[in-house]
Amino acid sequence: MTTTEETLASCLFCRIVRKEIPSKIVFENDKIIAFRDISPKAPIHILIVPKEHRAKLSECGPGDAGLLGEITAGVAEVGRQLELDDYRVVVNNGAGAGQVVFHLHFHLMAGRPFS
Ligand code: 5GP
Ligand code: ZN
Repeated sequence: MTTTEETLASCLFCRIVRKEIPSKIVFENDKIIAFRDISPKAPIHILIVPKEHRAKLSECGPGDAGLLGEITAGVAEVGRQLELDDYRVVVNNGAGAGQVVFHLHFHLMAGRPFS
């Protein structure tokens, strides 16, 4: 296996995308999947994940504008489906910023005040 193939085979969120690991899916289309965070930091905590693997936001280039648009549109769609008026969207980029899973994902959090 090449390094890339190994990454895709073992990556936690790639495995969730392939449904090898169960998750509580709230929205899915051909480009993205959105599921509940296993360790929520707010009453509503959803992860919006592109099906195509990117390790982190800073690895995305101009050619990824479409993919990033699909993710942000997915965030808005989840907000509508869950009938949320207010929510916080967070992307942790890199270990120093708190990123633990190295498959790009946006956090949508709601249901409590944010300062
Ligand atoms: P990060 O810190 O990388 O931005 O966020 C990773 C998030 O993934 C964390 O909030 C963590 O709770 C969540 N997470 C880690 N493992 C799993 C899992 O197996 N299933 C789900 N649904 N979420 C997970
Ligand atoms: Zn992945």
